Amino acid sequence: MHDINALIDFDQQHLWHPYSSIIDPSPTWPVSAAHGVRIRLANGRELIDGMASWWCAIHGYNHPLLNQALIKQMEQMAHVMFGGLTHEPAVELGRRLVDLTPESLDKVFFSDSGSVAVEVAIKMALQYWQAREQPGKHRLLSLRKGYHGDTFGAMSVCDPVTGMHDLFSGLLPSQLFAPTPSCAFDAPWDAMDISALTELMEQHHQELAAVILEPIVQGAGGMRFYHPEYLRQVRKLCDHYDVLWIADEIATGFGRSGRLFACEHAGVAPDILCLGKAMTGGYLSLAATLTSTHVAETLCGGSAGCFMHGPTFMANPLACAVSVASIDLLLDSPWQQRIGAIEAQLKAELAPLASHTAVAEVRVLGAIGVVEMKDAVDLRQIQPRLVEQGVWLRPFDHLIYLMPAYVIDTDELGALTHAIGQVIADS
Ligand code: PMP
Repeated sequence: MHDINALIDFDQQHLWHPYSSIIDPSPTWPVSAAHGVRIRLANGRELIDGMASWWCAIHGYNHPLLNQALIKQMEQMAHVMFGGLTHEPAVELGRRLVDLTPESLDKVFFSDSGSVAVEVAIKMALQYWQAREQPGKHRLLSLRKGYHGDTFGAMSVCDPVTGMHDLFSGLLPSQLFAPTPSCAFDAPWDAMDISALTELMEQHHQELAAVILEPIVQGAGGMRFYHPEYLRQVRKLCDHYDVLWIADEIATGFGRSGRLFACEHAGVAPDILCLGKAMTGGYLSLAATLTSTHVAETLCGGSAGCFMHGPTFMANPLACAVSVASIDLLLDSPWQQRIGAIEAQLKAELAPLASHTAVAEVRVLGAIGVVEMKDAVDLRQIQPRLVEQGVWLRPFDHLIYLMPAYVIDTDELGALTHAIGQVIADS
């Protein structure tokens, strides 16, 4: 990178970043390379990464095996259309997803991103009820503080307060919302926690196509961990009222919560499952929506005669090949031990922060550590201070949190928790 200032200048003037303003852009740090859990800035400084690029880079950056898988695939073909053609990377990835997810889920739809995987899941549910000649079942029941993506269908099932519902009121499909689960992951189960959702299903099941939620971990909507019994109850209620259940494991899939998929904490299987993010080890954008033979055959038996979706880059061979390599690398690694060790260290090192007057709560599950502050974090003030301390964290709202690559070592993780302690102590 020759002229860092020119680069920053162009970036600020022309490029949007996530949730950013063109008239008042936030600072951005140019990156020249990333290896393992280190991000190298263009000014030569190295940061220890605590974000895994928003849940994705579970093996760290620039992994030789993943690089190799991409190079090998690139020498064959970078892309071919999936309409009328197929290829080994798609089949190998599909085979792994069918094998690793619950037995009932055996039909796979590949798409480009998590939000699209959610759109696909919603569309599957709607087409399913149309095919069953119950088009009145067209609404979704979601949870408050949920997050499912930024496209219109996905936005409609995000938390109604933080999910842009006011901004697009009248334009989003109108959905139903149950209160956010409040019984913590490891607390004794409180049966009252499911009562509001039970009532909503009792009242509205005739118009409900599906319940959609993030199992166990509500991610971008608040980084909250809830009780596995909640999911078992959801499964029962969906069966009882003949409503489909969509589990959005885009953030939790591939080990993050300590199990390969978060639904495993409850031992239940959804009717439709969304995967993304860590599926390619953070290399390329790819997502998948899985469903059962029953749902797939029913919806394809409707008037459309097929499932009505088909992205240009569906099952992109590069993305599928790197995803196969990432899944194999994960399964060949001692990932449970690694995540167990990360969890234990995060619990030990973040727990003392709970006594600080500015901290509301500290919580840890798997390779996710969260410090919830009493007041919203001032990102423009806190981010440069974190960078000065040599770490990359991206707090939001009231949350300073960590979700590192699974390969992070004790010292690196210690540096991250120490930096969090420092910024809180200085606040
Ligand atoms: N669902 C969940 C649970 C997510 O965390 C996200 C992304 N943060 C999405 C869906 C949307 O994925 P994408 O950003 O790839 O569209």
